[in-house]
Amino acid sequence: MINYLYQEQNWQSQLSDLITDPLELLETLKLSPDQLLSGAILASEQFKLRVPRAFAAKIQAGNPQDPLLLQVLPHHLELEDHAGFVTDPLDEEHANQQPGVLHKYQSRFLLTLTGACAVHCRYCFRRHFPYQENLPKSEDWLNIQRYIQSQPDINEVILSGGDPLTLSNRKLKLWIERLETLPQIKFLRIHSRVPIVIPNRVDEELISILKNSRLRIILVVHSNHASELDDFTCSKLSQLAKEQITVLNQAVLLKGVNDTADVLVNLSYRLFDAGVMPYYLHVLDKVKGAHHFDRTPEDISQIYAEVLARLPGYLVPKLVREIAGEKNKTPLFGVSTF
Ligand SMILES: *Cc1c(COP(=O)(O)O)cnc(C)c1O
Ligand code: SF4
Repeated sequence: MINYLYQEQNWQSQLSDLITDPLELLETLKLSPDQLLSGAILASEQFKLRVPRAFAAKIQAGNPQDPLLLQVLPHHLELEDHAGFVTDPLDEEHANQQPGVLHKYQSRFLLTLTGACAVHCRYCFRRHFPYQENLPKSEDWLNIQRYIQSQPDINEVILSGGDPLTLSNRKLKLWIERLETLPQIKFLRIHSRVPIVIPNRVDEELISILKNSRLRIILVVHSNHASELDDFTCSKLSQLAKEQITVLNQAVLLKGVNDTADVLVNLSYRLFDAGVMPYYLHVLDKVKGAHHFDRTPEDISQIYAEVLARLPGYLVPKLVREIAGEKNKTPLFGVSTF
């Protein structure tokens, strides 16, 4: 398993063969079930374990503190209640205009085409979100089209989710072609963690769809640690960059995973090697079940100050927080010194 050759298997079969059983994950990684299994089983009842074998293959066997493992293994600490940690921290339920449409920001809105993700990240702010009620069906396109046309400020559509790259190329192409018919739409953004957890998702057909679109494509991947970016993954990402597709990265600052300047600096350099520009570093959204990933604002400032000091400006991701009801992401560093 550690030698599992995920480079050779097509993404569709990888996506239908995810690890969902905590015991299997622990055994695969040669971890003793005694300490971890019962918590993992209980926590996975609230938010299921879901991890591609290609991602598991990047986890160091025998290391219960592996930064990649901590992001995917359900933990008994998720069951604790903590003040301020709630099920819908961003109040997205109220920003839902119609099925699939989440319009909070001026020039752009999120279009949610699927509730499915290839991986379940334990810190995800959407871990309690009622996706299934919000998905557009084909016949909703007319309404979405009308909505966009009623908002002349909109020039960008952001495919989000769930994870839009769990969709087939056929479906993706269909939606891109629909959006291309609206002259006001100039940019298409795709937010996805799939290229990191199943790099083979970046196949020839996807590249061709993206590079032949009239829309300017921006792919925002989500990687939190340089260990997620092995040579094969980087080669897939740089293929996109070579085709003039802008590839950016967003990360979440997570206790135990990437909460040191060393780790964040390495991540930025590794991304840059692969043609990916660091974009956002999010502080954790206060979602119920994720308290054990939280760091204090003082700690975060200190870590970020060191990152700023060590990296050239173009490799420093913007430290931001998403605040429910705000008109943009809120920058968190240096603003108060104005
Ligand atoms: C983050 C986000 C966006 C995009 O914001 P940018 O700052 O343009 O990256 C749009 N809609 C929602 C709901 C978001 O959370
Ligand atoms: S891939 Fe993104 S949306 Fe899906 S669980 Fe992870 S953080 Fe959440």
